[in-house]
Amino acid sequence: MGRKFFVGGNWKCNGTTEEVKKIVSILNGREVPSQDVVEVVISPPFVFLPLVKSSLRPDFHVAAQNCWVKKGGAFTGEVSAEMLVNLNIPWVIIGHSERRLILKESNEFIGDKVAYALSQGLKVIACIGETLEQREAGSTMEVVAAQTKAIAAKVSNWVDVVLAYEPVWAIGTGKVATPAQAQEVHSELRKWLQANVSPEVAASTRIIYGGSVTAANCKELAAQPDVDGFLVGGASLKPEFIDIIKSAE
Ligand code: PGA
Repeated sequence: MGRKFFVGGNWKCNGTTEEVKKIVSILNGREVPSQDVVEVVISPPFVFLPLVKSSLRPDFHVAAQNCWVKKGGAFTGEVSAEMLVNLNIPWVIIGHSERRLILKESNEFIGDKVAYALSQGLKVIACIGETLEQREAGSTMEVVAAQTKAIAAKVSNWVDVVLAYEPVWAIGTGKVATPAQAQEVHSELRKWLQANVSPEVAASTRIIYGGSVTAANCKELAAQPDVDGFLVGGASLKPEFIDIIKSAE
């Protein structure tokens, strides 16, 4: 089976050129487990992608935080998958809850984006997750299954997909899911993939956790059998991101 541990750093809408150079130099200067053990992907804002790509250590890769749903053209303000490919950006984050909730991106729109990005040769970190209201109403699995279903409806090859379970109530709140809460949803998601996609895809797809991951809580989460890594926001801008990468070991 051998799902390689995956750690993504989502910088969101943060940083200046000076700050970016500083973070990159910290990342470049530290020892981390080898690429055989952990896959590390850093996701700066679009405008910093070329700078980060050209200055980041070669064992770490880069991701965009979004891309347009189809071929580029008259779509003011958007960045197309083709452009990312042209710049040799290998990864893209799609369906982050901040885009689902603030920019009103629907499950179907996100499914279309994931499929289009894959069709252009990008690898995708596809995000799903329930709000606090949905969790308290007992509909967590129903919500994440519907989000995953909209992706599965458009995607046949899952080799280049990493599924990021990010409960909205845990994002940027300091309120991390307990290891048991994360494991429960990850294991249910794997069962969903087994029943609705295939046993092979269920066994091989990395399901990573995101939401207030820190150096202090990552080890216990990483020890869960169905937690295959992390998508890290706030802590990815700090030196502790290195400790989170080390939780792969
Ligand atoms: P956080 O964000 O680590 O700051 O909670 C995670 C994410 O939104 O990917």
